[in-house]
Amino acid sequence: QKAEWAKLVNESTVTADGHQVELAANIGTPNDLEGVMANGAEGVGLYRTEFLYMGRNELPSEEEQFESYKTVLEGMKEKPVVVRTLDIGGDKELPYLELPKEMNPFLGFRAIRLCLVEQDLFRTQLRALLRASVYGNLKIMFPMIATLDEFRAAKAILMEEKEKLVAEGIAVSEEIELGIMVEIPSTAIIADQFAKEVDFFSIGTNDLIQYTMAADRMNERVSYLYQPYNPAILRLVKMVIDAAHREGKWAGMCGEMAGDEQAIPLLLGLGLDEFSMSATSILKARSQILCLTKQEMVELADQALQMSTVSEVMEAVKVATKK
Ligand code: PEP
Ligand code: MG
Repeated sequence: QKAEWAKLVNESTVTADGHQVELAANIGTPNDLEGVMANGAEGVGLYRTEFLYMGRNELPSEEEQFESYKTVLEGMKEKPVVVRTLDIGGDKELPYLELPKEMNPFLGFRAIRLCLVEQDLFRTQLRALLRASVYGNLKIMFPMIATLDEFRAAKAILMEEKEKLVAEGIAVSEEIELGIMVEIPSTAIIADQFAKEVDFFSIGTNDLIQYTMAADRMNERVSYLYQPYNPAILRLVKMVIDAAHREGKWAGMCGEMAGDEQAIPLLLGLGLDEFSMSATSILKARSQILCLTKQEMVELADQALQMSTVSEVMEAVKVATKK
C-alpha cells in the first residue's frame, strides 16, 4: 500500500469525477520541510509559529523569525504557505511572559487576544513575516478570532507595519492573502460577515469542536463529547465553506479532522477546498480522494447535515464509501 501511495507524490489531488482539492501540511518548524516535500504536500496549510517562542528564555528577535519564515517560504518554492501568527496561551505557556494564572485558560487571554494587547510582540512578528513575504507565496492567518473587530484591529496593525517597511524602502509582497482561523462558534455563525473582509478561512476543528461542545480537548473524562461527526459541527463547517464560496473566497481546514479518513468524504461533499494535515497523512488521503466522486460525497454530506447523531453519520459514511 505504501508503495502505491509513493507513486502519488507528484500528483495533484483530483476526485474520480474531476474535482480538484489541495492537500497541505501542518508544520511547526522549518525542519519539518523535508517531510512535507517527501510526502507530496501541495502547500503548507498551517505553520504553527509558537515553537519559535517556546523552550527558551526570551522572545525570538525579528531577525531570527525572519530567517525561519524565509527558509520555509523558499523551501516551498511557489507553493502556498499559510503562517499563523502567535497562538500562545491556553495549553501553550511562555514562562518569560509572566502572565497571571487563569481559571479557564482555554477561554482566556490567548492568541490574538494577547497579540492585540502585547503589540510589540505582535508587530515584531508581523514585520518579520512581511519582510519574508518576497521569498515565496505567503498567506497570513490570525488565530482565535471571535469578532470582526478583532480581525479589523489585527489587520490595521499589519497594514501599519507594512507601510512603515515600505517607507523604509524594504520590499514587501503585494500579494499576501490575509485570513483567519475559524475556531470559535461566534465566528462560524457569522462567517458570511467575515467572508466579505477576509481572503480565506481555515477551520480549526481542534478548538471549534471543543468550544461548540463545551468539552475541554485535554480532558479525557469528557472526550466522548469530542465529536467531529456531530451534525452540529458539520453544519458549522458547512456555514463557513458556503460563506467563503459566496464571496469567491476559499475555505480550508487545519484541525485534525482534515486528515481523518472518515471525515474526508464528508468534507469533500461539504465543498472544502484545502485540507491541511500532518505530512505523513497526505499520500493516504490523496489515494482515498482519487477514488471518491464529488457528486456522491455531496449527496452524503447533504444527508449527514439532516441527521441527528454521530452514529447515523458514521454509518452513512461507511455505506457511501463502500465499493
Ligand atoms: C485547531 O484548533 O484546530 C488548530 C489547528 O489549532 P491548534 O491545534 O494549534 O489549537
Ligand atoms: Mg486552535
